[in-house]
Amino acid sequence: MGVSEWRNWSGSVIAHPTVIARPRDEVELAAIVRTATQVRVTGAGHSFMPLCETTGTLVSLEDMAGDLIVAADRQSVDAPAGWSLKRLTAALWAQGLSLPNQGDVNPQSLGGALATGTHGTGLELSSLAALARSFRLVLADGSIVNCDQTAEPDLFEAQRLSLGLLGIATRARIAVIPALHLEERIEQRPLAEVLDHLPALAAATRHMEFFLFPYAGSVTLKTLHPTAAAELAEEEGDDRVFQACCDLAAAAPRSVPMIQRTLARLTRSSRRAGPAWRIFPSERTVRFEEMEYELPVANAVAALHEALELVRTKRMPLIFPFEFRMVAGDDIWLSPFHAGPCASISVHQYAPMPWSDHFAALEAVFRAHGGRPHWAKRHTLTSADVRALYPMAEAFGQVRKRVDPQGKFMNGHLHQLFGFSL
Ligand SMILES: Cc1cc2nc3c(=O)[nH]c(=O)nc-3n(C[C@H](O)[C@H](O)[C@H](O)COP(=O)(O)OP(=O)(O)OC[C@H]3O[C@@H](n4cnc5c(N)ncnc54)[C@H](O)[C@@H]3O)c2cc1C
Repeated sequence: MGVSEWRNWSGSVIAHPTVIARPRDEVELAAIVRTATQVRVTGAGHSFMPLCETTGTLVSLEDMAGDLIVAADRQSVDAPAGWSLKRLTAALWAQGLSLPNQGDVNPQSLGGALATGTHGTGLELSSLAALARSFRLVLADGSIVNCDQTAEPDLFEAQRLSLGLLGIATRARIAVIPALHLEERIEQRPLAEVLDHLPALAAATRHMEFFLFPYAGSVTLKTLHPTAAAELAEEEGDDRVFQACCDLAAAAPRSVPMIQRTLARLTRSSRRAGPAWRIFPSERTVRFEEMEYELPVANAVAALHEALELVRTKRMPLIFPFEFRMVAGDDIWLSPFHAGPCASISVHQYAPMPWSDHFAALEAVFRAHGGRPHWAKRHTLTSADVRALYPMAEAFGQVRKRVDPQGKFMNGHLHQLFGFSL
């Protein structure tokens, strides 16, 4: 067992690396990787799966020096992979630029978000991984390479979503758009109404998602609309009521249906507007565990109904709402959105409460409807599943074996998924 302790955001993964290394530049990083026998890299530890687990060296890029470089055509930027999305999007804003889309929160590192296919919502908008145009990587032997569609194209294709299996990205060039302002509208709607109008709603709205308490009949619909420049009008976020409800649910799981119906009744409509990088993320102060499946859009409503039915008939005490989003398809080898678009259904549970049996039962529903999991969120795929679900898994495995023949960047969890490539 190593001497340091590292925990992920939800607290479900506790690792004991021999050392947590914080290199200040690429030369230091290259030396660390060259001399280590086992290495994992971590960003903000916002993954729920044990992706960052190691008993060897755990690398953090938080202390790495580096600046944002805007391309002359202003269509892309070259950024340090260790920067948080918060730091990146603030720096982009200062340059009159935005990311085309973002997820629910922004503490994640750029490297971690790209490596796991982190996404927001929008039928026409892909995951962040699809924005990558080039990478600068430290490989297992300590060499430093640049890859893009023309230089080392196979390495680039594999690296676009690679769970830190190929090397440590020190920088990435990503596509950006001119600075965007958004108006957020939150409203309660009947579930049936939203599902009946889902295709039209998704097509007519740049960003559409909804949160759904399984034991309530309504959904909280959240839409984001491009708007003229607006000063930030911020809602006071306050999770204290929800935190108290979660603690009550943990103490009395049978009260979950009643709590959810009350919470749904208490949810108020709201509007706010401001710079996109301030409007996209929300505060998430109540810790949870999460599973998420990406499904063919045509199967999404049936899968959602089946999952809700299962929660209700088994009386699963899942206190958090489901989250439903849309994501555009892409051509990334290991992307769950490969050949999409997809509907994305997330299931959460308050971190101190049991989740694994409930997630397993719901995972079977999502798998039966052709779903593929978010790599960073709870799932039980095996290496046989990876090969069955991803036609390009072998191609990925060949690149992995070429750049890391000793499996320096593997860990137990990744071995279960990609052991076929050793
Ligand atoms: C509260 C919360 C909200 C979330 N919301 C969303 C959401 O809206 N949408 C969504 O899609 N996901 C969401 N996630 C999941 C999250 O975006 C991913 O888990 C993401 O990987 C987290 O980034 P990180 O920097 O924390 O990465 P970590 O968890 O630290 O690492 C994740 C993976 O990335 C690799 N990695 C990290 N840095 C590098 C690098 N420089 N080079 C190579 N590999 C690297 C790691 O080795 C590991 O395999 C959420 C998670 C939480 C806890």
